[in-house]
Amino acid sequence: MSSEKNAPSTMSSAEGAKAEPRANQPKNPYGGGPGTGLQFPPYYKPTPSVRSRMNYFPNSETVGPDEMRISFVGSCPFPPRRDQAGTCIMVELGNGDRFFFDFGPGCVKNILAMGVPVPSINDIFITHLHVDHYHDLSYLLPFSAWAGRWKQPLRVTGPSGRTPDLGTKGMVAGMKQMLKWHLEAFDACPIGDGYEVEVNEFDWKDENGICYEKNGVTIRHWRRSHERTAPRPTVWTGTAFRSCGPATAALTN
Ligand SMILES: [Zn+2]
Repeated sequence: MSSEKNAPSTMSSAEGAKAEPRANQPKNPYGGGPGTGLQFPPYYKPTPSVRSRMNYFPNSETVGPDEMRISFVGSCPFPPRRDQAGTCIMVELGNGDRFFFDFGPGCVKNILAMGVPVPSINDIFITHLHVDHYHDLSYLLPFSAWAGRWKQPLRVTGPSGRTPDLGTKGMVAGMKQMLKWHLEAFDACPIGDGYEVEVNEFDWKDENGICYEKNGVTIRHWRRSHERTAPRPTVWTGTAFRSCGPATAALTN
Protein backbone atom coordinates (compact mmCIF):
# COMPACT_ATOMS: atom_id res chain seq x y z
CA MET A 1 0.00 0.00 0.00
CA SER A 2 1.43 3.33 -0.92
CA SER A 3 1.43 6.09 1.61
CA GLU A 4 -0.71 9.15 1.06
CA LYS A 5 2.45 11.09 0.38
CA ASN A 6 3.48 8.75 -2.42
CA ALA A 7 0.02 8.14 -3.84
CA PRO A 8 -0.24 9.17 -7.47
CA SER A 9 -2.18 12.33 -8.05
CA THR A 10 -5.35 11.88 -10.09
CA MET A 11 -6.17 15.57 -10.32
CA SER A 12 -5.06 17.40 -13.41
CA SER A 13 -3.64 20.87 -13.06
CA ALA A 14 -6.78 22.24 -14.72
CA GLU A 15 -8.98 20.55 -12.08
CA GLY A 16 -6.69 21.81 -9.35
CA ALA A 17 -7.12 25.33 -10.58
CA LYS A 18 -10.90 24.85 -10.60
CA ALA A 19 -10.83 23.78 -6.91
CA GLU A 20 -9.17 27.04 -5.85
CA PRO A 21 -11.61 29.10 -3.74
CA ARG A 22 -12.95 32.08 -5.61
CA ALA A 23 -12.33 35.49 -4.09
CA ASN A 24 -16.04 36.33 -3.98
CA GLN A 25 -17.13 33.02 -2.48
CA PRO A 26 -19.21 33.42 0.71
CA LYS A 27 -17.35 32.53 3.87
CA ASN A 28 -18.59 29.77 6.11
CA PRO A 29 -18.65 31.10 9.70
CA TYR A 30 -18.50 27.55 11.09
CA GLY A 31 -15.30 26.71 9.30
CA GLY A 32 -14.94 24.06 6.64
CA GLY A 33 -17.70 22.03 5.08
CA PRO A 34 -18.95 18.78 6.57
CA GLY A 35 -16.36 16.05 6.49
CA THR A 36 -18.45 12.94 6.94
CA GLY A 37 -19.69 12.31 3.46
CA LEU A 38 -22.41 14.94 3.34
CA GLN A 39 -22.29 16.63 -0.02
CA PHE A 40 -22.81 20.34 0.47
CA PRO A 41 -21.24 23.26 -1.32
CA PRO A 42 -18.47 25.00 0.62
CA TYR A 43 -20.62 28.03 1.36
CA TYR A 44 -23.22 25.89 3.14
CA LYS A 45 -23.50 26.84 6.81
CA PRO A 46 -24.25 23.74 8.84
CA THR A 47 -25.05 23.99 12.52
CA PRO A 48 -21.97 22.79 14.41
CA SER A 49 -23.31 19.32 15.10
CA VAL A 50 -23.93 18.65 11.41
CA ARG A 51 -20.22 18.85 10.76
CA SER A 52 -19.69 15.47 12.37
CA ARG A 53 -23.03 13.73 12.03
CA MET A 54 -24.88 12.06 9.20
CA ASN A 55 -28.24 12.02 10.98
CA TYR A 56 -30.51 14.44 12.74
CA PHE A 57 -31.32 13.71 16.35
CA PRO A 58 -34.12 15.77 17.92
CA ASN A 59 -33.03 18.42 20.39
CA SER A 60 -29.37 17.94 19.51
CA GLU A 61 -28.84 20.95 17.25
CA THR A 62 -29.15 24.65 17.79
CA VAL A 63 -30.67 26.67 14.98
CA GLY A 64 -28.46 29.68 14.33
CA PRO A 65 -29.88 33.21 14.36
CA ASP A 66 -30.03 33.36 10.57
CA GLU A 67 -31.02 29.75 10.02
CA MET A 68 -34.19 27.74 9.81
CA ARG A 69 -34.72 24.02 10.21
CA ILE A 70 -37.35 22.59 7.88
CA SER A 71 -38.66 19.15 8.79
CA PHE A 72 -41.08 17.23 6.62
CA VAL A 73 -43.03 15.52 9.38
CA GLY A 74 -45.64 14.39 6.85
CA SER A 75 -45.77 14.23 3.07
CA CYS A 76 -48.54 11.87 2.03
CA PRO A 77 -51.91 12.78 0.45
CA PHE A 78 -53.90 9.57 -0.06
CA PRO A 79 -54.05 6.63 0.42
CA PRO A 80 -52.49 6.65 3.89
CA ARG A 81 -49.25 4.76 4.26
CA ARG A 82 -48.02 2.87 7.28
CA ASP A 83 -44.89 4.95 7.78
CA GLN A 84 -45.79 8.27 6.18
CA ALA A 85 -48.03 10.90 7.69
CA GLY A 86 -50.20 13.41 5.84
CA THR A 87 -48.68 16.67 4.69
CA CYS A 88 -47.11 18.78 7.43
CA ILE A 89 -43.92 20.81 7.32
CA MET A 90 -42.41 22.04 10.56
CA VAL A 91 -40.30 25.18 10.32
CA GLU A 92 -38.14 26.15 13.30
CA LEU A 93 -36.32 29.47 13.36
CA GLY A 94 -33.25 30.66 15.20
CA ASN A 95 -35.36 33.13 17.20
CA GLY A 96 -37.22 30.22 18.81
CA ASP A 97 -40.35 30.48 16.68
CA ARG A 98 -41.89 27.34 15.30
CA PHE A 99 -44.55 27.07 12.58
CA PHE A 100 -46.44 24.23 10.97
CA PHE A 101 -47.49 24.38 7.35
CA ASP A 102 -50.44 22.04 6.91
CA PHE A 103 -51.48 19.51 9.47
CA GLY A 104 -52.32 16.26 7.70
CA PRO A 105 -53.42 12.95 9.20
CA GLY A 106 -50.83 11.28 11.41
CA CYS A 107 -48.51 14.28 11.67
CA VAL A 108 -48.92 14.69 15.43
CA LYS A 109 -47.07 11.47 16.20
CA ASN A 110 -44.12 12.58 14.08
CA ILE A 111 -44.08 16.04 15.67
CA LEU A 112 -43.90 14.42 19.09
CA ALA A 113 -41.11 12.17 17.84
CA MET A 114 -39.21 15.36 16.92
CA GLY A 115 -39.25 16.29 20.60
CA VAL A 116 -41.93 18.99 20.47
CA PRO A 117 -44.13 18.97 23.59
CA VAL A 118 -47.89 18.84 22.94
CA PRO A 119 -48.67 22.30 24.40
CA SER A 120 -46.03 23.79 22.09
CA ILE A 121 -47.68 22.54 18.90
CA ASN A 122 -49.23 25.77 17.68
CA ASP A 123 -49.14 28.39 14.93
CA ILE A 124 -50.55 26.21 12.20
CA PHE A 125 -50.86 27.52 8.65
CA ILE A 126 -53.23 25.71 6.34
CA THR A 127 -52.39 26.03 2.65
CA HIS A 128 -55.87 25.00 1.50
CA LEU A 129 -58.84 23.12 2.84
CA HIS A 130 -58.43 19.67 1.40
CA VAL A 131 -58.73 17.41 4.43
CA ASP A 132 -55.30 15.81 3.93
CA HIS A 133 -53.89 19.23 4.87
CA TYR A 134 -55.71 19.82 8.15
CA HIS A 135 -57.07 16.48 9.37
CA ASP A 136 -55.07 16.32 12.63
CA LEU A 137 -56.39 19.70 13.84
CA SER A 138 -59.48 17.95 15.17
CA TYR A 139 -57.24 15.45 16.94
CA LEU A 140 -54.94 18.12 18.37
CA LEU A 141 -57.54 20.61 19.64
CA PRO A 142 -59.15 18.58 22.45
CA PHE A 143 -56.07 16.62 23.41
CA SER A 144 -53.66 19.57 23.51
CA ALA A 145 -56.07 21.36 25.84
CA TRP A 146 -56.15 18.23 27.93
CA ALA A 147 -52.34 17.98 27.76
CA GLY A 148 -51.67 21.45 29.11
CA ARG A 149 -52.17 24.11 26.41
CA TRP A 150 -54.37 26.01 28.83
CA LYS A 151 -53.29 29.61 28.67
CA GLN A 152 -53.19 30.22 24.96
CA PRO A 153 -55.53 29.51 22.08
CA LEU A 154 -54.74 27.24 19.19
CA ARG A 155 -53.66 29.66 16.44
CA VAL A 156 -54.74 28.65 12.95
CA THR A 157 -54.12 30.71 9.82
CA GLY A 158 -55.71 29.82 6.52
CA PRO A 159 -57.49 31.10 3.44
CA SER A 160 -60.95 32.54 3.09
CA GLY A 161 -63.33 30.97 0.61
CA ARG A 162 -65.68 32.21 -2.06
CA THR A 163 -68.39 32.08 0.62
CA PRO A 164 -67.83 32.29 4.41
CA ASP A 165 -68.56 28.59 4.96
CA LEU A 166 -65.84 27.69 2.42
CA GLY A 167 -63.12 29.48 4.37
CA THR A 168 -60.90 28.50 7.31
CA LYS A 169 -63.30 30.08 9.84
CA GLY A 170 -66.10 27.96 8.43
CA MET A 171 -63.94 24.86 8.60
CA VAL A 172 -62.98 25.50 12.25
CA ALA A 173 -66.64 26.16 13.19
CA GLY A 174 -67.61 22.89 11.55
CA MET A 175 -64.76 21.09 13.30
CA LYS A 176 -65.93 22.37 16.67
CA GLN A 177 -69.43 21.13 15.91
CA MET A 178 -68.03 17.75 14.96
CA LEU A 179 -66.09 17.68 18.25
CA LYS A 180 -69.00 18.89 20.37
CA TRP A 181 -69.55 15.68 22.27
CA HIS A 182 -65.83 15.21 22.88
CA LEU A 183 -65.23 18.80 24.00
CA GLU A 184 -68.14 18.70 26.42
CA ALA A 185 -67.07 15.33 27.77
CA PHE A 186 -63.56 16.66 28.43
CA ASP A 187 -65.01 19.68 30.22
CA ALA A 188 -65.24 17.40 33.24
CA CYS A 189 -61.42 17.51 33.35
CA PRO A 190 -59.40 20.57 34.41
CA ILE A 191 -58.63 21.71 30.89
CA GLY A 192 -58.80 25.45 31.57
CA ASP A 193 -58.98 27.65 28.48
CA GLY A 194 -57.54 25.32 25.89
CA TYR A 195 -60.57 25.09 23.61
CA GLU A 196 -60.20 28.49 21.97
CA VAL A 197 -59.14 28.60 18.35
CA GLU A 198 -57.81 31.92 17.11
CA VAL A 199 -58.46 31.89 13.38
CA ASN A 200 -56.57 34.30 11.19
CA GLU A 201 -58.28 34.12 7.84
CA PHE A 202 -56.62 35.82 4.90
CA ASP A 203 -58.12 36.71 1.56
CA TRP A 204 -57.33 33.86 -0.80
CA LYS A 205 -57.37 36.28 -3.74
CA ASP A 206 -54.68 38.47 -2.21
CA GLU A 207 -51.51 37.88 -4.21
CA ASN A 208 -48.35 37.89 -2.07
CA GLY A 209 -50.32 39.14 0.94
CA ILE A 210 -48.91 39.05 4.45
CA CYS A 211 -50.66 36.62 6.79
CA TYR A 212 -48.14 36.81 9.64
CA GLU A 213 -45.64 39.46 10.71
CA LYS A 214 -44.02 39.29 14.12
CA ASN A 215 -40.54 39.05 15.68
CA GLY A 216 -38.86 39.79 12.35
CA VAL A 217 -40.74 36.98 10.62
CA THR A 218 -42.97 37.61 7.64
CA ILE A 219 -45.19 34.95 6.15
CA ARG A 220 -46.80 35.66 2.82
CA HIS A 221 -49.26 33.81 0.67
CA TRP A 222 -50.12 33.74 -2.95
CA ARG A 223 -52.61 32.03 -5.20
CA ARG A 224 -52.03 28.79 -6.92
CA SER A 225 -54.38 26.78 -9.04
CA HIS A 226 -55.45 23.59 -7.32
CA GLU A 227 -59.08 22.61 -7.91
CA ARG A 228 -60.36 25.63 -5.97
CA THR A 229 -58.91 28.39 -3.84
CA ALA A 230 -55.44 27.29 -2.90
CA PRO A 231 -53.14 29.97 -1.58
CA ARG A 232 -49.64 29.10 -0.51
CA PRO A 233 -47.89 30.62 2.49
CA THR A 234 -44.19 31.27 2.53
CA VAL A 235 -42.05 32.35 5.46
CA TRP A 236 -39.38 34.98 5.14
CA THR A 237 -36.77 35.91 7.70
CA GLY A 238 -33.98 36.80 5.36
CA THR A 239 -33.88 33.13 4.44
CA ALA A 240 -36.81 31.97 2.40
CA PHE A 241 -38.95 28.91 2.79
CA ARG A 242 -41.74 28.04 0.42
CA SER A 243 -44.07 25.28 1.40
CA CYS A 244 -44.42 22.42 -1.00
CA GLY A 245 -48.02 21.62 -1.68
CA PRO A 246 -50.11 19.53 -3.96
CA ALA A 247 -49.73 19.28 -7.68
CA THR A 248 -51.05 22.04 -9.86
CA ALA A 249 -54.50 21.40 -11.28
CA ALA A 250 -56.98 23.31 -13.40
CA LEU A 251 -58.05 26.66 -12.02
CA THR A 252 -61.77 26.62 -11.35
CA ASN A 253 -62.14 29.61 -9.05
ZN1 LIG B 1 -55.22 19.65 -2.16
